[in-house]
Amino acid sequence: MSYFRAAVDAMAGYTPGEQPRSTDVLKLNTNENPYAPAPSVLEAIERTAHAPLALQRYPDPLATSFRDAAAERLSVTPDCILACNGSDDALTILTRACVDPGGLMVSPTPSYPLYEVLARIQDCRFEARPFTADWTLPPDFSTGASLVFVPNPNSPTGTRIEPDELARHASRAACLFVIDEAYVDFAPADAVGLIERCPNVVVTRSLSKSHGLAGIRFGYAVARPEVIQSLIKVKDSYNCNALSIAAATAALRDRTYYDDVRDRVLATRTRMERELAARGFTVTPSHANFVWCRRDEPVRPVFERLRERNVFIRYLTFPDYGDGLRITVGTDEQMDRFFRELDAVL
Ligand SMILES: *Cc1c(COP(=O)(O)O)cnc(C)c1O
Repeated sequence: MSYFRAAVDAMAGYTPGEQPRSTDVLKLNTNENPYAPAPSVLEAIERTAHAPLALQRYPDPLATSFRDAAAERLSVTPDCILACNGSDDALTILTRACVDPGGLMVSPTPSYPLYEVLARIQDCRFEARPFTADWTLPPDFSTGASLVFVPNPNSPTGTRIEPDELARHASRAACLFVIDEAYVDFAPADAVGLIERCPNVVVTRSLSKSHGLAGIRFGYAVARPEVIQSLIKVKDSYNCNALSIAAATAALRDRTYYDDVRDRVLATRTRMERELAARGFTVTPSHANFVWCRRDEPVRPVFERLRERNVFIRYLTFPDYGDGLRITVGTDEQMDRFFRELDAVL
């Protein structure tokens, strides 16, 4: 006898990247930002922590200050924004709101393994439909779907699809078409403009990667106000806390600081692509804060030998595709150490 639903007993659960706590570990496995959050963000947390009643009262259920900041930044109205406890919370809310048990969730492959886990919890069908050879979507990608997730830029490949092409796919879909933009701040264009043309487009964003706030847990969704209204019905009443709302609001308002962080990450990414290619890796040009690389032979031994030397990167393998290594962009000093260790194990 089990106390749990059959779908829960049958599923494996999501395997997060390892989170070693030792400070000696070079941690390049979960795409965190190597640079500290903006001083203005830390000040906002401090100010909120000391403000009268800020912690003993429930937080603003809709995170109004954050909605205003995001709306201003994206040139949309605040009712187009849904604040979430990390963008994974947005993905969970979308799944619960849109997919019946008999429904079908579709995402491309190889991509973010969490989508399938959300489908298993929801007890719906799930199909991972392969990217084309040039990393776009096949013409019938959304056929039959009750909900579509497309990470753009994609993880783990770092590839991206042009917004116009996403619009063509969204207009063919008979369901919400979710564009997961967790890495978009490292890419040349985003898809927020599509919500005007395509009533079924939802864009999700994260402050974990580009804003160095993975520990704070904050993300958001952008969509037409009527879509956001329905998602609000499904979310937890107080899904974001008072300190995270203050931090995220300050982060979106500090454009100068984060533009500089992004420029540094992009410069180091270029160096990584060059140095990995020089060592015989096949490198996929990246539009994110990580680099995906492969070799003609299996790369698991490289991952394991690096791990023994306290260097953590992500090893991933996909059916009908094979394996590869996803390496987060660190600081230049961290990459000096990475390449020294890599040379020692190759
Ligand atoms: C990291 C990641 C997320 C989750 O981001 P959080 O805001 O930390 O929940 C969502 N989608 C993709 C593709 C990611 O890589």
